Amino acid sequence: MKTVSQTATKVVAEMVTDIPHKRVGILGGTFNPPHLGHLIMAQQVGDQLGLDEVRFMPDAQPPHVDEKKTIAAVDRKNMVERAIADNPLFKLETAELKRGGKSYTYDTIKALKAQHPEVQYYFIIGGDMVDYLHTWYRIDDLVKLVTFVGIKRTGYPTTSQYPVMWVDAPLVDISSTQIRQKISRGHTVRYLVPAAVEDYIKEHQLYEPTN
Ligand code: ATP
Repeated sequence: MKTVSQTATKVVAEMVTDIPHKRVGILGGTFNPPHLGHLIMAQQVGDQLGLDEVRFMPDAQPPHVDEKKTIAAVDRKNMVERAIADNPLFKLETAELKRGGKSYTYDTIKALKAQHPEVQYYFIIGGDMVDYLHTWYRIDDLVKLVTFVGIKRTGYPTTSQYPVMWVDAPLVDISSTQIRQKISRGHTVRYLVPAAVEDYIKEHQLYEPTN
């Protein structure tokens, strides 16, 4: 016969395992290259939602931007690693790079959830993406698996037909496109990307006109 305290321990244990007990933010992107806008949004969401960690997840091949000039996935991964190295809240998530092919968020989250059902995921997206959620693969199923967190982006609306938790962060008008253009025109990107990313870009001569 079980004692009262044994029963109580079991009930508490069941409660603990039923309730998601790790809260993880995911910032998916091409990171071609990572810039200060990415770091600021990740930090603001992590802080304001009290997340345990925020993972930067480079895609293998973005589903919506096939025409975009991309560089080797390994360079994008290396730059993300350098960009987040000094921040204990930030981690690298390689799920999509490892899987390869088109990176559909639904597939990725499904796989992550299967491995770690106890984790509650917060998927962080910029205002430009929020506007296109209706085009995402299996979006109606995806909204049941994650909480979308939106960050305002200059020039984009803050409305959505899907549930989005908006987090108030400073508007940062930096984009990877802008960074690539500046470099290809011989302009500086100092203070727009972390110094370690600027060094990596120079060392590997990325985005220069000859590439
Ligand atoms: P590109 O200019 O090449 O399209 P990007 O600057 O949008 O790139 P991504 O790696 O595609 O960078 O973005 C990853 C995520 O970060 C996306 O959800 C995007 O909306 C968001 N994001 C990027 N920059 C900002 C910014 N300055 N403000 C708010 N959200 C941003």
